[in-house]
Amino acid sequence: MTDVSKWYDDFQVLKDISLTVEVGEKLVICGPSGSGKSTVVRLLAGLETHQEGRIHLQGGGMKTQRPGDIGMVFQSFNLFPHLTVLDNLTLGPVKALGLSRVDAEERARAYLERVRIPEQADKRPAQLSGGQQQRVAIARALCMEPKLMLFDEPTSALDPEMIAEVLEVMEDLAADGMTMICVTHEMGFARRVADRIAFMDAGEIVEIGAPEQVFQAPKSERFALFLDKIL
Ligand code: ATP
Ligand code: MG
Repeated sequence: MTDVSKWYDDFQVLKDISLTVEVGEKLVICGPSGSGKSTVVRLLAGLETHQEGRIHLQGGGMKTQRPGDIGMVFQSFNLFPHLTVLDNLTLGPVKALGLSRVDAEERARAYLERVRIPEQADKRPAQLSGGQQQRVAIARALCMEPKLMLFDEPTSALDPEMIAEVLEVMEDLAADGMTMICVTHEMGFARRVADRIAFMDAGEIVEIGAPEQVFQAPKSERFALFLDKIL
């Protein structure tokens, strides 16, 4: 995105944001509540509109955007509660990609293996733990074979023991070469996985850099104070 600004009425939520992500890159976005992190990923996912600037997804074969090219995982899972896990996973590929039921199921089962819950296929979301639900949400996005995965605080609604299992799945995905933008305050994950970490405050990207650089010597006072608080 280039020079993107966005307002809600008189309130400017994003101020001239420019951000590029390379194919295969893992970008972590952190920053205080209300700084605009979710707005950035929601814009990239096409869930919001903006007033100024450009969002271009042409890198890495994104020119012809098809449904599911951008996968999104939310803090609150957002699974379809009335559908089984398997049906949550096959819905998109059948309806939006035109896969046959058989092919969609085969793909769904493969991704349930990937997120390590193949045995949960016939359950409904309410019968799963939070960590399992979030892994279903990740598998659901993967079933669309996205080119870019967006995560908006995927572990912040989870108990500590479930955070690890979701982060592990995300790390597997990173190791497989997925292009990922993750809003998270899990700085251990960021240190292990991120190529770059962006710090947002008050609608701006205040600082962006490699983890080893920003953790050791953040350039901005605001980022240093923020890291002090969360580390
Ligand atoms: P958090 O860490 O709490 O998730 P965030 O960095 O993701 O915060 P955003 O959700 O992007 O922040 O919101 C940025 C600002 O925009 C906040 O001040 C928020 O109140 C405001 N905002 C978000 N959505 C709307 C909306 N639909 N209408 C008006 N203001 C909004
Ligand atoms: Mg948010």
